[in-house]
Amino acid sequence: ALRNPGQPEFLQAVTEVMESLWPFIAQHPRYAEHGLLERLVEPERVVMFRVSWMDDHGQVQVHRGYRIQHNMAIGPYKGGIRFHPSVNLSVLKFLAFEQTFKNALTTLPMGGGKGGSDFDPKGKSPAEVMRFCQAFASELFRHVGADTDVPAGDIGVGGREVGYMAGMVKKLSNRADCVFTGKGLSFGGSLIRPEATGYGTVYFADEMLKTRGKSFEGMRVSVSGSGNVAQYAVEKAMQLGAKVVTVSDSSGTVVDEQGFTPEKLAVLMEVKNQQYGRVSDYAARTGAKFEPGKRPWHVPVDVALPCATQNELDEHDARTLIANGVVCVAEGANMPSTIEAAKAFEAAGVLYAPGKASNAGGVATSGLEMSQNALRLAWPREEVDARLLQIMRGIHAACLQYGRRADGRVSYIDGANVAGFVKVADAMLAQGVV
Ligand code: NDP
Repeated sequence: ALRNPGQPEFLQAVTEVMESLWPFIAQHPRYAEHGLLERLVEPERVVMFRVSWMDDHGQVQVHRGYRIQHNMAIGPYKGGIRFHPSVNLSVLKFLAFEQTFKNALTTLPMGGGKGGSDFDPKGKSPAEVMRFCQAFASELFRHVGADTDVPAGDIGVGGREVGYMAGMVKKLSNRADCVFTGKGLSFGGSLIRPEATGYGTVYFADEMLKTRGKSFEGMRVSVSGSGNVAQYAVEKAMQLGAKVVTVSDSSGTVVDEQGFTPEKLAVLMEVKNQQYGRVSDYAARTGAKFEPGKRPWHVPVDVALPCATQNELDEHDARTLIANGVVCVAEGANMPSTIEAAKAFEAAGVLYAPGKASNAGGVATSGLEMSQNALRLAWPREEVDARLLQIMRGIHAACLQYGRRADGRVSYIDGANVAGFVKVADAMLAQGVV
């Protein structure tokens, strides 16, 4: 804490991982040697830069840009770019730290990184968004490259923003290799990448449910958020026979007791992805109930899928979900549950998966996009989807292998942390003190 003042999210993420690792390291003391843990919690490089651009009124706007290159032990730095007013060093360091373990869990050769800016895309014109993305990329391009660091999207950065940034990086570097993932299909993107995080989260939850002889068929499901991850979590849960009763955004929650349908999801996607509107606009169009300022966790469900942002589900929310009989919680977002909430789920015997396991399908498919770019090939949808499913099943199996406790219960928190750690740690130890 002394070395990282004012970084509560980073300390929260490190604390959660270290609590899982202590018992494992006590049994395997070689992992406490060579300053391994001290090196693992220190990013290899932090780049902070000015992003200045001109808005539609001719005013100069100044924002702060970041790229955290956390760990390269098993491959090039890899992780998304986030544009949101809440972005700061702490948030991005936590995300880059988590990303390192998540990427290891996918078994693909990717290190961990994250970046972003405190720029708020809401209410900006399309031309302003493009100028900001170009200004951001005009510094970022110095630090990225197919074998160095390959960014992607995250909150506030979708296909449109990735396209603008990739375009600028290519122009400045005069190279056409894989500078971003999540690209459009016309310039090297992969099929299933937009769907991958949401689909992967549901695939993972399905594997969890199977361990109790259950499935999504007939389950009531709540989803938070209404962006990229949330939309495709809704879609896949519906395809597997579930009734999805909520979505949300920072303005409130939509509760629809009739459940989502493909037609309603198409309306949500139009409102969110084309009009950049609010879930209240969606509720007004479909007649669903809108609860301003509320989160979805008071709604009784069997499965909860938090897909919005960090710390959106606290201990009180967890206790409400438990009291209402929740069976499974799988995180589509990064660290949406507070440490206390996660502990409450585990203590109550709820199947609970931390984001670094259950939302790894997004980066896994980004890894597949990098492979396709390197091969100069594009795989069909079915092939990418099948690989995604296989990777999610592999991560689930790794969690069971490393997360089984003495009493026979599985802690997916411990499983994900230890499995990811072992891979990164072995690679770091083999490469000496660097
Ligand atoms: P989007 O920008 O597409 O959507 C974000 C959603 O979360 C929006 O509904 C947004 O509402 C809501 N949200 C954001 N910040 C807040 C907040 N402070 N309070 C309440 N709601 C908020 O982002 P993604 O769907 O891509 O990302 C969602 C989560 O998933 C993030 O935690 C991200 O790190 C994680 N993730 C994403 C991956 C990907 O492939 N995209 C991969 C792995 C993890 P509003 O519109 O009101 O801001």
